[in-house]
Amino acid sequence: MNLILLGPPGAGKGTQAKRLEDKFGIVQIATGDMLRAEVRAGTPIGLEAKAIMEQGGLVPDAIITAMLANRVSQPDCAKGFILDGFPRTVPQAEALDVMLAEQGHELEHVIELQVNDAILVDRIAGRFTCAKCGMGYHDHFKPPVKPGVCDVCGSTEFIRRADDKAETVAARLAAYHAQTAPLLPYYAAQGKLKTVDGMAEMNDVSAQIEAILNPTKG
Ligand code: AMP
Repeated sequence: MNLILLGPPGAGKGTQAKRLEDKFGIVQIATGDMLRAEVRAGTPIGLEAKAIMEQGGLVPDAIITAMLANRVSQPDCAKGFILDGFPRTVPQAEALDVMLAEQGHELEHVIELQVNDAILVDRIAGRFTCAKCGMGYHDHFKPPVKPGVCDVCGSTEFIRRADDKAETVAARLAAYHAQTAPLLPYYAAQGKLKTVDGMAEMNDVSAQIEAILNPTKG
């Protein structure tokens, strides 16, 4: 099963992708996470992407598409994958169609997490993750049970993304509306687009997604 989670920054794509990964045994491919790893490692891709990401812009299609092609050809993707943060432009979607056809993969669903811009800034500005296990938290909506200690692994180190500052979020939202929202009609025309209410409670969003993936259950 191969699917895309589509939605603005802060819509909950990463959270839902991790849940699907656990539940269905398919891998999450998050291009933002891959780029942050390149930046940390100081690779040529990381050096080119760093300033663009800090300003909330999009990394050039050619770089991202090559990175993605390499990732989906790896053996752990054979059972299926959840794309989180890719594609973000129509040329990326077109490149993905070609790539999937060449590799004999099929794209089953494109699931849009629909969220109003007004709540995204608050959602993004307070979020942080455990440095060790990657569990996601939020200052107001989901703090760790014991302050400063990860609920899952007990680590006391957390990371905040450099581009989660309120100033940068506005640029990221503008990039979403200008460059990524055109993917909605693109996938609607392919008959693949499904929309869920991304403003619902987290478990409810998961239930909406699972109803799409398992239409006979529940
Ligand atoms: P994300 O973690 O998905 O919010 O991505 C963080 C940043 O990485 C974005 O604001 C972009 O600068 C860059 N990025 C991630 N995925 C893509 C993509 N598919 N195309 C272009 N830029 C991307």
